[in-house]
Amino acid sequence: MPATLSLLIVSAEHPVIAIDGYSSCGKSTVARAVARELGLRYIDSGAMYRAVTLYFLQNNIPLDKSDYSAELDAIHIRFKVHPDTGYSDVFLNGKDVSNAIRSMEVSDQVSHVSTLKAVRTKMVQLQQQMKGEGGLVMDGRDIGTTVFPDADVKIFMTADPEIRAVRRFHELNANGTSISLEEVRNNINSRDFEDTHRTESPLRQAADAVVLDNSHLNYDEQLAFVLNKVSLLK
Ligand code: C5P
Repeated sequence: MPATLSLLIVSAEHPVIAIDGYSSCGKSTVARAVARELGLRYIDSGAMYRAVTLYFLQNNIPLDKSDYSAELDAIHIRFKVHPDTGYSDVFLNGKDVSNAIRSMEVSDQVSHVSTLKAVRTKMVQLQQQMKGEGGLVMDGRDIGTTVFPDADVKIFMTADPEIRAVRRFHELNANGTSISLEEVRNNINSRDFEDTHRTESPLRQAADAVVLDNSHLNYDEQLAFVLNKVSLLK
């Protein structure tokens, strides 16, 4: 357990912690750990865009429609904490899609689907509702800028692109996905490009976010960095 934990005093009763950043920076690992340490809920907003993308792929929905209300009304996304792993499983219309949303097919399409204004409006609305009465940790691309512009702590995560690609490559191969480093690199680069260049809430650092470059930081150091920011809350 990092030494800083013993000093941690969370004075904000229900803190909202927004963790944004580039693809494959390890945002979800840090966000989940922070949530666990603070007893807060963790929401992976990327999983929601991935679930919508899976639905679009499964139902051959084109990306140039003028109206997506019927499709979006038919999409129901739920998170359920798995009793054994403690991880949140993702359900799309009642079906566990936790693995399916991590496929390369979804990864290749998710940034395109995420440019759609109707999709973003619906996801942001759902994410804001998730705040409910308690605090939470949410990671994504627009959490500190659009979803929770008043978040108590905003972290903007980044890391050297090549380090991110190599990490993700090892992670995917360990999970049994046969993929080349080149393919992983291309996917990360194109998602970063699309996420930072889209019109609707592009990925950018909020003015009041603190940068966490984890190129050369281990798990404990990253956790301590974020918990330290939380401990400064009045
Ligand atoms: O976080 P993850 O890499 O799983 O997110 C997948 C994709 O979902 C991102 O590349 C981005 O296109 C989209 N996304 C988004 N806004 C968020 C979270 C994810 O546009 N808040």
